[in-house]
Amino acid sequence: MARLGLIFGDQLNLDHALLDALDPACDRLLMGELVAETEYVRHHGKKIALIFSAMRHFRDELEQAGWSVTYHVFDPDSDIRSFTDLVRWASAAEGVDTLLVAWPGEWRLLEEVRAWEQELGVAVSVLPDTRFLGALEDFERWARGRKQLRMEYFYRPMRRRTGLLMEDDQPVGGSWNFDADNRKRWRGDPPAARPMRFTPDATTDEVLALVDKRIPHFGVLEGFDYPVTRAQARRALAHFVSAALPYFGDFQDALPDDEDYLFHSRLSSSLNLGLLSPMEVCRAAEQAWRDGQAPLNAVEGFIRQIIGWREYIRGIYWLKMPDYADLNALGNDQPLPDWYWTGKTQMRCLARAIDATRQNAYAHHIQRLMVTGNFALLLGVVPREICEWYLAVYADAYDWVELPNTLGMVMHADGGLLASKPYAASGKYIQRMGDHCAHCRYRVANTVGEDACPFNALYWDFLDRHRERFERNPRMTMMYRNVDRMDAERLSAIRERAREIREQVERF
Ligand code: FAD
Ligand code: SF4
Repeated sequence: MARLGLIFGDQLNLDHALLDALDPACDRLLMGELVAETEYVRHHGKKIALIFSAMRHFRDELEQAGWSVTYHVFDPDSDIRSFTDLVRWASAAEGVDTLLVAWPGEWRLLEEVRAWEQELGVAVSVLPDTRFLGALEDFERWARGRKQLRMEYFYRPMRRRTGLLMEDDQPVGGSWNFDADNRKRWRGDPPAARPMRFTPDATTDEVLALVDKRIPHFGVLEGFDYPVTRAQARRALAHFVSAALPYFGDFQDALPDDEDYLFHSRLSSSLNLGLLSPMEVCRAAEQAWRDGQAPLNAVEGFIRQIIGWREYIRGIYWLKMPDYADLNALGNDQPLPDWYWTGKTQMRCLARAIDATRQNAYAHHIQRLMVTGNFALLLGVVPREICEWYLAVYADAYDWVELPNTLGMVMHADGGLLASKPYAASGKYIQRMGDHCAHCRYRVANTVGEDACPFNALYWDFLDRHRERFERNPRMTMMYRNVDRMDAERLSAIRERAREIREQVERF
């Protein structure tokens, strides 16, 4: 009985379920760089290069460990364009009876996999995806019968289950969450830590040349410095823990004008590729606290992002797909401004976030949530368009993680399933958290008039447009109290300014 294990490009973990289920003495593995995977959105070139380079390195590691790997190198002229083509070709060429895969990271791929038994006549076995701590069935069980699926209530059992930062059955430090300590503005001290940089080796150089010449892409390829092997990702983790983690909590929400990473880890691409496991990352952070090298507010905040947000977001995706992708609870109808792709906007905060995105295939969480995301929410962009943008432009972007973050957390398009209120904010928030406004052509103190910060009018107009939906939300009472203080003339001027921004958004 010939068995073949197909390894997807984002499942490069050595504890992959296939490697346990198969026998290197008689079974083969299959990997492929596929045209269809580079085309479904216009990905950042660094993202494609990262995935292909990490795949090639992983193939080499598997072969060194004694596995036979059939590896399809990217070829736009080949008839093998999709995973279905690859499996059809491999099962005919290698006489395969049974194909094994692990649960993929995207709904569209799962659909493709599910069609193979009938379409290609091979038995297909789908194994669990070991890149996460929880099983999808556990999440479903947790969600069953709950009216609200709040992350905070998912996080506590995860702490208990993993034992991270726990003493007996209680959280260390007497609290589950120290976010109240985590909202400082950064004024240059201590200096930003920045992630570890890795100079491309021959494999990465080859892939970069391939992307440059043969694959249409978004963004800048020069300056590629991502970790592409597990060994490099381990070094990036150690560097983060010693250099940045101590300040991760304090400045987690900061928005400096001249630092692209500050104290963020840039570990998402390694985690999402399987180069690092969530548990080893959290254990390294916890150890730093136990050794007195990082404070509890930083370590708890960081661990919560991984065993809380990351696992919860994935659970929501698989619980709610495929209908989730079509939701548009706020009835948005605005196209995504073209300058999201070019960075050519006069709004400094957006220009900086988009420029960092174009250069690095990275923007930190607050840029994604409170700058590019917030603006799309206030403007009323069609969720599908903004989701496609986030999926394309970040090195860590896969549907399972991008979609709930964008559609649910940022756009409130799921009607509040994921977030109890929209993360809508005026320019004042951006000013409070950083120094973009000091470098901006617009005046953050103004709401109407040609020089007024566009976030301001759009913010009040957003509250006004969606009053019926949000005014009874207890977390938004203060916001509506402020709207109610405005006289009719002021509100009308704000509506007019917001209409002008929506109609002429490309010139702002
Ligand atoms: P850090 O700030 O150092 O955080 C540590 C880790 O926590 C991250 O590496 C990540 O694994 C995890 N994490 C933190 N927040 C989240 C979250 N909300 N969801 C899932 N994991 C989280 N993350 C992705 O990995 N891929 C995406 O495509 C993606 N799209 C996003 C789109 C929007 C609109 C928003 C608001 C957030 C998105 N995120 C996404 C979540 C988060 O912004 C990134 O994980 C983070 O910015 C990655 O940088 P970092 O590794 O430096 O993270
Ligand atoms: Fe952004 Fe408004 Fe500040 Fe300009 S003034 S940087 S547009 S928040």
